[in-house]
Amino acid sequence: MAVGVLALQGSFNEHIAALRRLGVKGVEIRKPEQLQNVTSLIIPGGESTTMAKLAEFHNLFPALREFVKMGKPVWGTCAGLIFLADKAIGQKAGGQELIGGLDCTVHRNFFGSQIQSFEAELSVPELVAKEGGPETFRGVFIRAPAILEVGPEVEVLADYPDPSKKLLDSNSAVESQKEDTGSEKKVIVAVKQGKLLATAFHPELTADNRWHSYFLKMVDEVGGEASSSICTVGGV
Ligand code: GLN
Repeated sequence: MAVGVLALQGSFNEHIAALRRLGVKGVEIRKPEQLQNVTSLIIPGGESTTMAKLAEFHNLFPALREFVKMGKPVWGTCAGLIFLADKAIGQKAGGQELIGGLDCTVHRNFFGSQIQSFEAELSVPELVAKEGGPETFRGVFIRAPAILEVGPEVEVLADYPDPSKKLLDSNSAVESQKEDTGSEKKVIVAVKQGKLLATAFHPELTADNRWHSYFLKMVDEVGGEASSSICTVGGV
């Protein structure tokens, strides 16, 4: 067994490299039938509209939805998080197809455009409890989304102050400047719901392997045996 990495576009090579550092093989997934060879999946960051168009072209959506429905572990980072969300706002007219399954509303470009990309230390108690290491994790946010609302089954793993102090009316998808009450407003940037994991930032672009290790433990819990598919030295 090995971990599938959706390899249509975006940072799939970086995820495969991070898995390799942990001794696990990442398998590139581009076609629906390839999903049958893996028991878990990482959906990388990139550009979610482009990724959706490519997924549509390869007729991947039904197989991806089935994969999620079957309760197989899936981790979406950034654009991957958008893909997993039940509802996305802030997209261009017409929107895009989503896989869904993660009970949340995500704003696609909450933190702004490329030039508003940033890095920040995040407090993630659950990650530190399971993986140890430093108290914070360096979050790399690139044209990053944020989660605005979550359902009752969703566990919030990390949040981050809203830099613009704007709150978004997710029902009308209209941005509205709320009165600043002085209290710090926060948005959600990492969640877990059953076997779904989602982060608005890019752990695969750091040398800190804890999120990958955390996901592999989720895979092991369902008997995916990800960590038993150890690569031989130099071999992938
Ligand atoms: N906001 C981007 C999108 O809509 C995602 C950015 C990323 O994955 N780094 O696709």
